[in-house]
Amino acid sequence: MPALRVCGLYPELMNIYADRGNIAVLRARCEWRGIGFELGASSLGDPLDPDAHDLFYIGGGQDRDQAAVAHDMGATKREPLHAAAGRGAVVLAVCGGYQLLGHHYEMGGEQLPGVGLVDLRTVREEGPRLIGNCAIEADLGEGPRVIAGFENHGGRTYLGDGERPLGRVLSGHGNNGKDGFEGVRRDNVIGTYLHGPLLPKNIWLADRLIELALGIELEPLADDALEDAAHGSAKRAAGV
Ligand code: GLN
Repeated sequence: MPALRVCGLYPELMNIYADRGNIAVLRARCEWRGIGFELGASSLGDPLDPDAHDLFYIGGGQDRDQAAVAHDMGATKREPLHAAAGRGAVVLAVCGGYQLLGHHYEMGGEQLPGVGLVDLRTVREEGPRLIGNCAIEADLGEGPRVIAGFENHGGRTYLGDGERPLGRVLSGHGNNGKDGFEGVRRDNVIGTYLHGPLLPKNIWLADRLIELALGIELEPLADDALEDAAHGSAKRAAGV
């Protein structure tokens, strides 16, 4: 059996709304199937080996933590992340981490650099934070499915012309509250504003990410009643 090798990026800084719960879910889904699970981490100043992991994960964060992370990411993680994405590793980024996947995050006259893995920019514009339950329809190769969660972001994200969103907003604000799109997906690089944490409420997505990271097909688990109930409740909260 293969092992899923996960790297948490800046786990102590980028963990708003318990986003590290996403990693706990990946671990459980692997272990329940007898798939090995290895967790590494890379934080401020640490090197990053692009070949040592199958899935790179970064959660959300406050603006002040994002500033430290953004500068370090540009200096120490940019090239390894490009190399990892180039060989098909999964990169999953939530909210503040998602914003740093693009070219930059502009806030209050300051421009935080992103790693440029995808063509997008984020701007802290006038107007309220975009807060609330959110549901989107996304297709990760198995037909359209619903991803439901909770968003809370001041930044508005705009995708470049050739970039594809992760999904279409069914309910909530999404990338910028205007264009009806949420997140980004370029091959195995996925960014989204949805917390929840994301994966406990969308177990199909957790399993799909494991499949994409390992290049395998998973058998369903015998009893996902609780996971399905969590998905149903997140969808209902978003009104879909
Ligand atoms: N600080 C960012 C914003 O407000 C991201 C917030 C988050 O990760 N929830 O836009």
